[in-house]
Amino acid sequence: MINLIEEHIYNITFTNDRTVTCKLLKISDYPTTGMTKDYTLERIGDISIAEARVWSIPENVLESLKIVDTNPNIVTELEYLNDPNKCPYCKSESIKEGDISANYKKIMIIKRQRFCNDCSKLWVETYTLSGVKI
Ligand SMILES: [Zn+2]
Repeated sequence: MINLIEEHIYNITFTNDRTVTCKLLKISDYPTTGMTKDYTLERIGDISIAEARVWSIPENVLESLKIVDTNPNIVTELEYLNDPNKCPYCKSESIKEGDISANYKKIMIIKRQRFCNDCSKLWVETYTLSGVKI
């Protein structure tokens, strides 16, 4: 069983070592027939006129190929809040602190920029007042 996601872009390496980049358009499932699933892929980038742009590949053929998901593995907000020391895009722990800005109008909201040293992405954390000791 392979676990591919529609709309994701994959690098698929064939047995002759040729790699093509494809977007998964659709997974066709035929549960009542017992037939294998079909994966409709659209090739991305320059292809020669003689080659098809859209392919339909049965699951059992796709299973024998090397497939790499090129989409960033973005963690959810909840996952990030549980472990804010990892880049939400590539999960690197090499993170740089950026500027902190504060808004004191009604409730205090502090924002902090963070940068990933490995994938160069930027994101912003939001801090709110969580308690007081009197
Ligand atoms: Zn990163």
